[in-house]
Amino acid sequence: MSEGTLRVRFAPSPTGSLHVGGARTALFNWLLARQHGGTFILRIEDTDTARNVAGADRKLIDDLRWLGLQWDEGPDVGGDAGPYYQSQRLDIHQQHVRKLLDEGKAYYAFDTPEELQAMRDRAQAEKQDFRYPRPAPLPTDADAAKARSAGRPVVVRFMAPSEDITVDDQVMGPVTVTADQLDDFIIQKADGIATYHLANVVDDSCMGVTHVLRGQEFLAQTPRHIALQRAMGYPTPRYAHLPLIMDMAGRKLSKRDGDVEVLAFRQAGYLPEVLVNFIALLGWSPGEDREKLTRDEMVRLFSLDRIGRANAKFDRNKLLAFNTDAAAAATPERLLSAFKDYIACRETPFAGCDDATLAAVLEMCRGFRTFPDVDAKAGFLFRRDDAIEYDPAAVAKVLHKGDNAGVTMLEALLPKLESLEPWTAEAIEALLKSVCEEQNVGLGKVAQPVRVAVSGTTVSPAIGETLALLKKEHTLARIRRCLAVTAGKEPNG
Ligand code: GLU
Repeated sequence: MSEGTLRVRFAPSPTGSLHVGGARTALFNWLLARQHGGTFILRIEDTDTARNVAGADRKLIDDLRWLGLQWDEGPDVGGDAGPYYQSQRLDIHQQHVRKLLDEGKAYYAFDTPEELQAMRDRAQAEKQDFRYPRPAPLPTDADAAKARSAGRPVVVRFMAPSEDITVDDQVMGPVTVTADQLDDFIIQKADGIATYHLANVVDDSCMGVTHVLRGQEFLAQTPRHIALQRAMGYPTPRYAHLPLIMDMAGRKLSKRDGDVEVLAFRQAGYLPEVLVNFIALLGWSPGEDREKLTRDEMVRLFSLDRIGRANAKFDRNKLLAFNTDAAAAATPERLLSAFKDYIACRETPFAGCDDATLAAVLEMCRGFRTFPDVDAKAGFLFRRDDAIEYDPAAVAKVLHKGDNAGVTMLEALLPKLESLEPWTAEAIEALLKSVCEEQNVGLGKVAQPVRVAVSGTTVSPAIGETLALLKKEHTLARIRRCLAVTAGKEPNG
C-alpha cells in the first residue's frame, strides 16, 4: 500500500452515547490512518430510524473529540466522498439495489411477518435451519407493484452465491462460511430503505474504504458483505475483527460492572489521554511489556499483527492506576485544561473559579487519582460557609476532647487571625507556629481545630495554603460558625 491511500472509517449507529468498545474501534482505525498517512472517515449509520436516538450523533462527535480522535472526512468537516450521514445516501443505496435487481442478483419478496413465521416454525418442526425458499420464476416489477397495491410488504432479497466464502481476517485468520450456510437475506426493507448490510457495504465501497476494523460481533456478517461486494463488482477491503471486551469476571463488559460510556469516564474525572492509552491495550499490545504510551508512540508502534485473538480484559484498577500516575506527572497547564473540561461537564463546587485559583487547588491536591478526589479534598473551599457540615467524630475528637481543648484553641486563635495582615500562606503558618511555641504544643493541636472549623473534617491540604485560598473573610466566618454549632447555638450543615 502506498502512503496516503489507506482509508478507514468509524461507522457508529447513533443509538446512544459512545461505549468504550466503540471508542476502541474508532481509536484503532484512527491509529492505522495516522500511521500510514491515510484518511480516517466518520460515517453516521442512521438509517435504522426505530433505533436512532435524537442527538446521539452530536454526543458521539463530542466524545470522539474529547478523546482527540479527529476525523479527516465526515460530519462537520465534509469531504469528497460524502454525504457522511447514511440517511442522506438512500438514493445511492436504492440505485445499487436497482442494479442488483436488473442483473438478476436480487429479487422481490412479499411475505407477511406471519407467513415468514409459519415458514420458520415449519423448518423448526422438521429440525432444519430456516433458509428462505427462492421463488422460481423470480417476481417481476409488475408483480411487486401488484403486491404493493394489495398492501403486502415488498422487500428485496439478495441472491446468495452458490460458493463458499472465506473472510481472510487480519486478526482471526481465515473464516469460511460454506455456500449452504448463506441465505437470501433482505437488502431493502418494505419502506424502501436499505438494510444495514447493503448500506454498510455500498458506503464502504463508494467511500473507497480499504480496511475495515470493527468489533468481533460483526464477523458473522462479513461473508454476506463479501458476497455483496462480489455481486456489485467492488473490491473487498481488508477486514480485522477486534477481540471482545470482558469484565474481570470474564463476562461481556456491561454497565452492571461500572461505567462503560466514554462520557461517564469523562465525568468521573479521567484524563482523555489516559483513557485512550488504556483502550489501546484492549486487544493490542506494543510488545516488550510496554503499557504506558503517548499518542505519538501509539501511532508509531500500532500494528494489526499485534492485535490478539483472545478476549480483552477491562481492568478498572489498572485504568485508575494509569490515571493516578499520569495526573502526578502532568504539567500544571495540562491539568488545568483537563480540570476545566471536567468542571464543564458536571456539577462541582469549582464553577466560577478563576484559572489561578483552579491551578492553585490542583497543585495543592497533587497525588489525586481522578478529579473527584480534588473535589473531596478541596471542594469545601468553594462551598457556602453555612453549608459546611461538621463531622460529629471530628468534632468530638478534635474540638470537645480534653475538656473542649479544641474549642478553647479556636477562641484563642480567632482574634489573632482577625488582626493578621497580610493574609498569605506564609503569614498564616508563621502565626500558627508562634501559637504552638507560646502554648508549648505541637502543630496538630493548633492546626487541627482550624481544619475542622473550615472543612468540617480532619483532612484538608496544607493549612496555610488552605486558609489563604479560602480567604480571611470565609475563614473567620467558618470559625465563628463552628463555635456556634459546637455550642449548640446553630444547626449543623
Ligand atoms: N453501524 C454499525 C455499528 O453499529 C457499523 C458496523 C461496522 O463497522 O461495519 O457499529
